[in-house]
Amino acid sequence: MELPELVNLSRQMKEKIVGKRILEVEVANPKCLNVSLMEFQKAVCDKTIKSVSSKGKWLFIMLDSDQTLLFNSGMGADVIYFKPGSKLPEKYHIRLALDDESGFTIRVWWFCYLHIMAANKLGEHKLTAKLGISPLDKTFTLDIFKQMLRKKRGNIKNFLLSQHNLAGIGNVYIQDILFNAKLHPKRLIPSLKASEIEAVYKSIKSVLNESIRLGGLAYEKDFYGNKGGYGKDQFRIAYKPGDPCPICHSTVTKIKTGSTSSYICPQCQTLNDHASTHNHVKS
Ligand SMILES: [Zn+2]
Repeated sequence: MELPELVNLSRQMKEKIVGKRILEVEVANPKCLNVSLMEFQKAVCDKTIKSVSSKGKWLFIMLDSDQTLLFNSGMGADVIYFKPGSKLPEKYHIRLALDDESGFTIRVWWFCYLHIMAANKLGEHKLTAKLGISPLDKTFTLDIFKQMLRKKRGNIKNFLLSQHNLAGIGNVYIQDILFNAKLHPKRLIPSLKASEIEAVYKSIKSVLNESIRLGGLAYEKDFYGNKGGYGKDQFRIAYKPGDPCPICHSTVTKIKTGSTSSYICPQCQTLNDHASTHNHVKS
């Protein structure tokens, strides 16, 4: 789950669970908690949900006790609402029951975090306190983006994936964000022209907004169990190795970029002289 999925999920959760009291919470693997299961249940049960929001890949559920539940789905999760009296999904790892007999279950693909923090101590929550700016926030302007890139030396892909810079972009959306801007993922930041910075800035906003509009990724479920509308037809080169580039018809290639994989059009996203020129200047 990346930013678009979290934005949609938090909006839907807000409609359904705000104002309701938590009766019961079940956690199959307490390793995902930052306190003991007993402590967690004590902090959460009998509290009313005040609001739900998201930042980056995190969900924030504020309680009337001024404690906040923080959830991160790790590699992904199904967070699914259930109506009063309806059957629960067969497999789930976390269940929250609410006072109107509705609630939601969470089925985690790999690992997750479910933490509780006092609102006035959120600044001490290591995993969220240093999250960068939201790329869809009004304060994220082109000028701010240029300022953020100044004096940075690494490559553009690592910069955009770092949650300390921008919160919410992961390895799925980054592919087309870079393709639209005609940037090779390994392009070094000091080698970027002003026009290229502007292109990637616009691409970040357009790719994320388009996915939000379509309800997020097609292989992820929303709060009602429905899949999103952003899938193979929307991807331009992402996850399409061997397909022709939609611009120049060269063959889309999968390459290794550090610990992640990247899909690029080798014609539209060249590295060649950009990187070497930069190295030469620096040495
Ligand atoms: Zn191309």
